[in-house]
Amino acid sequence: GSGATDLIWRDGKLVPWDDAQLHVMSHVVHYGSSIFEGIRAYKTPAGGAVFRLREHMRRFQDSAKIYRMPLKYSLDELCAAVTDTITANGLDHCYIRPLAVRAGQEMGVLPTNAPVETFVICWRWGAYLGHDALEEGVDVTVSSWRRAAPGTFPTMAKAGGNYLNSQLSKMEARGDGYVEGIMLDVHGHVSEGSGENLFVVRDGVLYTAPLSASILNGITRDAVVAIARDLGYEVKELLMPREFLLIADEIFFTGTAAEITPVRSIDKSPIGAGKRGPVTKAIQERFLAIATGQQPDTRGWLTPVPPA
Ligand code: PMP
Repeated sequence: GSGATDLIWRDGKLVPWDDAQLHVMSHVVHYGSSIFEGIRAYKTPAGGAVFRLREHMRRFQDSAKIYRMPLKYSLDELCAAVTDTITANGLDHCYIRPLAVRAGQEMGVLPTNAPVETFVICWRWGAYLGHDALEEGVDVTVSSWRRAAPGTFPTMAKAGGNYLNSQLSKMEARGDGYVEGIMLDVHGHVSEGSGENLFVVRDGVLYTAPLSASILNGITRDAVVAIARDLGYEVKELLMPREFLLIADEIFFTGTAAEITPVRSIDKSPIGAGKRGPVTKAIQERFLAIATGQQPDTRGWLTPVPPA
């Protein structure tokens, strides 16, 4: 769960956790008008470090741009807000949730008197898909809910309202005894999980869905593409038919919360050997080694968190 921390960044001020409240008439409560990020900071030998902070805050700006939400802060200011909030709470490893919402007290879909308020919240958050998931893998289903079709909801934006679709997929999967659902796009191609991108391994080649399959442009996905190529694997973007999943040697999810989580079965059909495979393990290990400062950070992925 998300345990309370001391302070939340609210438009430039650090306020006590209990004071970061919104009015029930806020535009966001009625119409889903928020954009957000999910970021992780890891403990390294040199102290806390945020993984790919600038890329996350750039996507935050992109989401705001897509939804015409004016942000009052530059990229540098948004990045500083994140590290300031972590430092103020005395955390090294944590999950970070930057959020911008349309507030105000005026109803109507058009956000006229709905000023944008920006928050940064952080808390300790463990393995997202369960305690043993990272080693043992997870059992998942193909969701009956599809990802939003092109030209309906902008799937490149990480926006609150988009997650109504994710919630339907996740609740269906959990209700049916699975950990997560894999959604197909409107044409039936493999898209992604409710909060994760997906990779398939077959004959030593990695496959992942392209942006045109209605995915979020995942930052862990991007990191995994780079790491896989460093390790000598070929990586291809492919519009995958559903049955491609069933003949995979390995499948894994990627995401900030889920990190790299092996998928061991889909709809009770085992994937490969039915447990974490060697390619997944190699990528997982390299990813964690870089994030936790055990391996040189050659791409500048880590931003140090100044100590309090
Ligand atoms: N897809 C969706 C729908 C997500 O919510 C997330 C989590 N942000 C991802 C993919 C993975 O993205 P990232 O690796 O940037 O966390």
